Amino acid sequence: LSTWSAVPAGPPDPILGITEAFKADKDPRRINLGVGAYRDEHGKPYVLNAVKKAEEKIAAAKLDKEYLPITGLPGFTSNAAKLAYGADSVPRNQNAIAVTQSISGTGALRIGGTFLARHYPHSKTIYVPTPTWGNHIPLFKDSGLEVKYYRYFDKKTVGLDFEGLKEDLQNAPEGSIVLLHACAHNPTGVDPTQSQWKDISDIIAEKKLFPFFDMAYQGFASGSTDRDAFAVRYFVSQGHQIALSQSFAKNMGLYGERVGAFSLTTASEEERKRVDSQLKIIVRPMYSNPPLHGAHIANTILSDPELYQEWEGEVKGMADRIINMRERLYQLLSNDFRTPGEWSHVKSQIGMFSFTGLNKEQCKVLAEKAHVYMTMDGRISMAGLNGRNIEYFAKSVDAAVR
Ligand code: PMP
Repeated sequence: LSTWSAVPAGPPDPILGITEAFKADKDPRRINLGVGAYRDEHGKPYVLNAVKKAEEKIAAAKLDKEYLPITGLPGFTSNAAKLAYGADSVPRNQNAIAVTQSISGTGALRIGGTFLARHYPHSKTIYVPTPTWGNHIPLFKDSGLEVKYYRYFDKKTVGLDFEGLKEDLQNAPEGSIVLLHACAHNPTGVDPTQSQWKDISDIIAEKKLFPFFDMAYQGFASGSTDRDAFAVRYFVSQGHQIALSQSFAKNMGLYGERVGAFSLTTASEEERKRVDSQLKIIVRPMYSNPPLHGAHIANTILSDPELYQEWEGEVKGMADRIINMRERLYQLLSNDFRTPGEWSHVKSQIGMFSFTGLNKEQCKVLAEKAHVYMTMDGRISMAGLNGRNIEYFAKSVDAAVR
């Protein structure tokens, strides 16, 4: 008998499964709207010019391959914090933000989950929105936290269930942890307005909850890294201590390089040093120290004014292309095809994804009849649409809902 004969087969990953089905479909009209990675107007993966230039600079510098410190490349972590918190952030200027480089956003969330499970003195329960990015749930459970939910999405309006959200946060036990998507909520594309963020901040202060921001799309939502950091910076300005996960997968297109950062704001430099020491104790037995190359790329872009400017333009270019696709899809569905239903949410949603409101049956029909692949919850990656396939997609949606 094999040692592993009793290991049960786990379910396939729902998103990677879609890519498999897409690859197996040889129809020339096939469209993959499952994957959360940017595609250019030709449907191709996109390497940013700022990234190519940074790589040239790195190659020319002939750097060695020595280990990084446990918490990563110091220039990178400092610049990542500056990007998220802003140059004039009070805890930043007090040297009171503990930051560690991480294996992209997922790794940052995992370090954060573990840190909170070990050191957060009040509760081991984290509230996440329904729905949320699917990986949040196993990730926080594996970190040692208990996962509970707060209402977020209203199916009727295809928008934010703000009353439900407020009620659930108000009813959460004092001291609970709350996971907030800083911008471009995945999977819904629905974000609170600035005024709603202010109300959320008030409830969190009043109920003594602890905010953990997941910022996987800074710059990608609106095209402005400052605007997309509004919630994070507003909370800090209101005196909240926060935890923050950052990813450079989307905004620099560094998906497979795995570049991210986890940070905590603390009360003083002395406290920050103690927190830093515990972050090291979490990282060291997991993977010892993070990879070099991606951190050098991000740091080169963030520290060179010319590359920074080029990068900002390219982030805006990606965001604008997605915003144009939203506008065009809305026009096609509501004006050209007069597709039954209300489609304005396609335009008002933000970021990589749109929650179309299509049901499971309709998603199945789209895959089987039209060669259009998306997650069964009706989420589409807007980045998978382009000038050449958007009409075909809209027509297929039209046929599927009639
Ligand atoms: N959080 C959210 C909300 C995401 O959508 C993603 C990427 N899909 C991540 C975190 C982490 O991605 P990565 O580990 O590639 O940075």
